[in-house]
Amino acid sequence: MYDLKIRDIGSFDVAVCGGGIAGACAAISSARNGAKTVLIERGGSLGGTLTEGFMPLILDADNKGGIVKELFDFLNSHNMTLARRGDRVDKDGMRIPGRMVDTEGCKYFFDKSCADAGVTVLFYSQVAAVKMKDDKIDGLLVVTECGNYSLKADVYVDATGNGSLADLAGCDWECGDPDEKKPSPTSLAVCTVGMPREYDGTDSTDDKKQYSLMLRERGIEISGGLAAVKKLPSLSAWNMGINFQYDVMPDDIESLSRAVTEGRCESFEVIEAHKSIPGYENLYTAFTGSHIGIREGRRIFGRYRISDADIQEGRRHDDAVCLVTFGVDVHKLKSDDTDECLRGYRTKPYNIPYRALVPIGVENLLLAGRCISGDFYPHSSYRVMGNMAATGEAAGYAAARCVREATLPREYDGKDVKTFMQSRGYEI
Ligand SMILES: Cc1cc2nc3c(=O)[nH]c(=O)nc-3n(C[C@H](O)[C@H](O)[C@H](O)COP(=O)(O)OP(=O)(O)OC[C@H]3O[C@@H](n4cnc5c(N)ncnc54)[C@H](O)[C@@H]3O)c2cc1C
Repeated sequence: MYDLKIRDIGSFDVAVCGGGIAGACAAISSARNGAKTVLIERGGSLGGTLTEGFMPLILDADNKGGIVKELFDFLNSHNMTLARRGDRVDKDGMRIPGRMVDTEGCKYFFDKSCADAGVTVLFYSQVAAVKMKDDKIDGLLVVTECGNYSLKADVYVDATGNGSLADLAGCDWECGDPDEKKPSPTSLAVCTVGMPREYDGTDSTDDKKQYSLMLRERGIEISGGLAAVKKLPSLSAWNMGINFQYDVMPDDIESLSRAVTEGRCESFEVIEAHKSIPGYENLYTAFTGSHIGIREGRRIFGRYRISDADIQEGRRHDDAVCLVTFGVDVHKLKSDDTDECLRGYRTKPYNIPYRALVPIGVENLLLAGRCISGDFYPHSSYRVMGNMAATGEAAGYAAARCVREATLPREYDGKDVKTFMQSRGYEI
């Protein structure tokens, strides 16, 4: 037994654990709907993979309302989005507007929106343990830069990405593909400066193939197979995705740490190797993501598990949270997979139901973000950020309503969440 010094930080209606795009939206939504809300984030900014992971492209956002729309309205009004090239046009025949976003603008938006809504935000604070009473969470141990704290809430939201809170509370989960249990790869993103002035970026698979071929012809191999090189709205800088690491499991810190070392070393070496290519002499690494990008962690088992049939048939639900229009996007799962190795199939637009946010086994817990309940292939489709933000806004609203009505999440009528999300402008 360790002798822990623990101070009590008080009681809240709703405790949101993890401040990625899902957790930030959950906390804002919960507080706006009247709940005394705390948001616990182990890093030093909100946005998670979007900001700390430096993944500045919010996909499947066009049919979203609510906080997603507020974020884009804010970014657009500050010239902090950038149109991407490409063939996709909207219903009025216009090029679909850019979803490359300024990550500092996103951090500001989440900070300000949390402050305006009255959320208590705890940075540098990691949820480390739970106290259970029967099948409810009765308190959290939060390890922070400033010592250890305990806190309580009526309803908890797991927005940790990896489903760490649900795991601590005893929920069952799975991770990995159905055949070999190989998890989707992780990637460490790079910000570079000094790209050739005329270069336009890789907005299609063909662009990515061409860029990778240019590297290969000069003897530069990248573990990601295809290079993604995307211009940022500001800073004259570029986001580059060039590396994959395999077999990184959410309950294995050594695999995660190895991935970070590999990702950072490969990124630096590849950027330096560019200097032998005419036009790329001035390419430098500005920074790498302060957190590695984790595509797939624990998929917690919930009262509804989004299945392959759901996304192939485009299933709709009475308790829908949002409409997913992004297809299956499974990357290489091991180093000897080929770039052309497509595991997946076409999907029809489908709903994420509220029941996929309600875990089995723990009564006062909701899920938001990439740990919601779904199978491997559906996860590789719904995990993009427009949808993850929607699950956050829905979970925050439902948590606040559960507190107000003294109801458990599983007893709460998901049709009300659907009505709320529609009223917020989400296409269902
Ligand atoms: C390499 C890569 C590329 C991607 N590309 C795109 C793309 O182009 N477009 C797109 O839309 N999506 C993309 N995605 C998917 C998308 O970024 C994620 O699925 C989404 O951002 C997940 O959001 P989240 O809030 O659920 O989780 P996360 O972003 O992982 O946030 C979880 C948060 O919880 C915090 N946390 C974790 N554990 C604890 C704890 N115990 N206590 C306190 N805090 C904790 C973390 O610090 C983090 O801030 C990509 C993902 C990856 C990995």
